[in-house]
Order: sequence, then C-alpha cells, then structure tokens
Amino acid sequence: MALKTEKEELQTIPQKNDCVPLTIEDIGADGEGIGRYQGFTLFVKDGVVGDELIVRILKTKTTYGYAKIESIVTPSPFRVEPKCSLASRCGGCQIQQLDYQKQLEYKQNKVKNCIERIGGIKEYEMEPIIGMEDPYYYRNKSQYPVGRNKNNELMIGFYAGRSHSIINTDHCYIGDKSNELIVSKIREYIEESGIAVYNEEKHTGLLRHILIRVGFTSKQVIVCLVINGKKIPKQELLLDKLLALNTQQEDFVIESICLNVNKEKTNVILGNQIISLYKEPFIVDQIGDIKYQISPLSFYQVNPVQTKKLYELALSYADLHGEEIVWDLYCGIGTISLFLAQRAKQVYGVEIIPQAIEDAKRNAKLNGMTNAEFFAGAAEDVLPQKYKESNGAMSADVIVVDPPRKGCEQSLLDTVVAMHPKKVVYVSCDPATLARDIKYLDEKGYQLKKVRPVDQFPHSTHVECVTLLQRKNT
Ligand code: SAH
Repeated sequence: MALKTEKEELQTIPQKNDCVPLTIEDIGADGEGIGRYQGFTLFVKDGVVGDELIVRILKTKTTYGYAKIESIVTPSPFRVEPKCSLASRCGGCQIQQLDYQKQLEYKQNKVKNCIERIGGIKEYEMEPIIGMEDPYYYRNKSQYPVGRNKNNELMIGFYAGRSHSIINTDHCYIGDKSNELIVSKIREYIEESGIAVYNEEKHTGLLRHILIRVGFTSKQVIVCLVINGKKIPKQELLLDKLLALNTQQEDFVIESICLNVNKEKTNVILGNQIISLYKEPFIVDQIGDIKYQISPLSFYQVNPVQTKKLYELALSYADLHGEEIVWDLYCGIGTISLFLAQRAKQVYGVEIIPQAIEDAKRNAKLNGMTNAEFFAGAAEDVLPQKYKESNGAMSADVIVVDPPRKGCEQSLLDTVVAMHPKKVVYVSCDPATLARDIKYLDEKGYQLKKVRPVDQFPHSTHVECVTLLQRKNT
C-alpha cells in the first residue's frame, strides 16, 4: 500500500467547526456514538449506532476528535424519542435515545469485552442480561442539588452532563413519582423561610442538596436536607409543609425528616452528621422476604425491582444447603448477607461505614436471624487480620464480594484464596475492575464459571453483574 504524503495525511484530519458526514458504528464508554471519518475517530454525544449524521467538529486531538450532531440524515432503527425532554442535557441518563433492548445488548457486550479483553478469559458461560419490564421510575434514591442561577432564580434539579450547572426540574423519569410533590413543598419552604441556598463557588449559603429515599415496598419516605451548617430557619414551616403530604395523598408516607451536616468545600454530597427533625432518621423497606432498616448514610441499592433479581442470582450462584460458612465482604447494611443467611449455617459481613454495620446488626434482629455477624472496617484490613489471628485456620465455603467501582485490593483477594472457599461469588458494578480481579483469581486457582449482567441502571451506561468462580482443584 502506498504511503500517504504528509499533505494527504493532514487532509484527512477534520478541523474545528467543519461539518462532515458520519455513520455511527459503536458506543463509547460514556454512551456516546463513535464513527470514523476517513479513518479519523469521532465521538458524538447522543449519536446512536446506525445513525447517518452530519456532525460538526468541536475539538480534535491527533488521532481522534469530538463532534456534535448537526443534522440526522437517516436515523438509526434503534433511535427512540427520549421520554424526558431534558435527557440530552441532563447528566443522569446518557442513553435514553437508544432502544431499551439495544441498551441491554450494549451492556451485555460491555461485560463480555471486559472479561475477554482485560481478563483474558474465553471459556465461561455468559448468561443473558436481566433487564426491566418497565425501565422508568425505578430509583428509590434521588439527590437534588440546590442553587441559584446568574439571575438569582432558585434552581433545584439535576446537574447537566459533565458540569455543575443545575437543570431546574422537579420531575425525573427514573426517580420515584413521590419526589415531585416533595420537592415542590421544599421549594415553597425555601421561598417562604428565606433560607439561603448554597453557592458552590463561594462556599456560602446553607441548603446544598435534597436527598429523598423511598421504600418501594413499605412506601416509607425519608427526606434529608444537606446543609452547610447545623440548623435551618423556620424548621416548623418545613415540617408542616412536608407532613401535610401525609394527609393529602396515599401513595407514600413521610416517615422521617432530617438534616445532614456538610460544611466541607467538596463535591461529596453527604457529610457524616445526621440531625433528626422528625422521628428517627431511617426508613424500613423489604426485598423478597427480608426487611431492611436504612439510614441516610448507608449504601442501599437504588433499583429495588432489579436488586431482588440480583440477590436471588447471587444466592443461586452460591448454591447453599444450610451447612455453609459464608463471608459477605462490602456488605453495606447486610442486604446480601441476610439473603444468604436464609440458607447458610453462618454468615459474616464486613463493611467500612460504621452506620451501615449498625443497620446490618439491627436488620439481622429485625428478621430474627441469629446466624449473621457483622464487622466494621475495611475488608482488606479486617479479613487478613482475622485470618492471621486464626493462624490460618479460618476457612469459608463461599465468599461473596460486592466492592465499589475500584474493585478489590490484592491483599484481600490473597486472603480470599488462602481461606480456600469452594466458590467465590463476585458482584460487580464495574466490569473493567471485575475483569482485572477475575484474572488475578484465575491465576490463583479460581476459574470463572458463569457471568450474568443485571440492568440496575436503565438509560445510563452503568452495568452490574454477578459472577461465579469455582476452586479449580475441588
Ligand atoms: N452488598 C451491599 C453493598 C454494596 S456497595 C448491597 O448490595 O447493598 C459497596 C459497599 O462497600 C458500600 O456499602 C461501601 O460503603 C463499602 N465499602 C467501600 N470500600 C470498602 C472497603 N474497603 N471495605 C469494606 N467495605 C467497603
């Protein structure tokens, strides 16, 4: 093949503001469309696989660039009209314009690619992704940032994609339907009480975020105002307005109202201190046969319909018969632990957030379970330490891990291997770190048997999955 001259090479690189034709061939990690213009890769926000577009170049690097849709020449057969008119601007949903079945296919492929490319593993069973029948209004937790725009208008809603500018809206197609009424009452309270809302740049003002959690089964709601201080003006006004909702409708019950103190200049939404304003700061919810008490600071899966399927899958992969010793690492409020405890002899849970461990202990009692014990601390500290204290005698039949996106520390995986379980059930919210950890476990004698993604986050690019690893020399 003849080499291109330098001039020809330059000609293939489109310049900023150029409009070029483009067919979208792939989906990027953040849900953006990917196409190639004369061999040059372009990332296009809101582009859907199969779209034929005219795109305008926004920015170029040496081998790739970013572009936006100028016009759609032929829409992809997989392109759908998003339900939410804000979907393109809002950072919450990245792929609402993609047909839901295609979203599922994309997520399944994402997991498969990670396992095969990063994990280097080819022989395993990939079970079909579990999707939702109705992939809307699925979240039990919403966090609304509060601020004012340049015209000093009150803004409550969601951050625009890749920014901290607030899109003003009470309604969200993936949040719970109760949110809208609650937020509208808080808007009234803000206007009538004169409470200063937070200014992120100057770190001034009081009200930063509204956190709402709903128990889908119990219909109990906790409302938590995150403030840059310790008290709010006209507290009674807030309580009156919110509690009036309990008599005005029957879809939910406001069970608890509290403040969360966050005085730091940080992107992290919640601080460590909770101040109750109305009743104890928690709600109770149920998944399957198990009841859970949930505090605002504790992690709780955001999609209860899918969580039930996720936990049932983890339980079926664990294949317990009542005699097993099981460890549940990164256990949160003991959700998976208690699911497992229904079928195991003894379950031990480890979790880094002390309040979550308090919830876990209470949850065991709430369900009358005496075979679950919980330890607060980092899994990578607690497990190796306990193993060492036992002089290597501590073992397990099944170990479940459900780490945050960064995956497991190697020191933890080494202890898991040393404890010689027959099975490891790895629940993951990041297929890339999952694949890295599976590769390591494979080298240490654990073979990947099965993988099944579960769509916990429809319309976003995130994907959750459950995997089963088995000891090779059983
Ligand atoms: N299995 C639980 C929680 C999973 S989310 C559920 O399904 O609800 C991951 C959990 O890991 C969170 O609760 C988080 O607080 C906790 N965590 C994060 N880092 C940790 C660490 N190093 N050691 C133990 N737990 C950790």
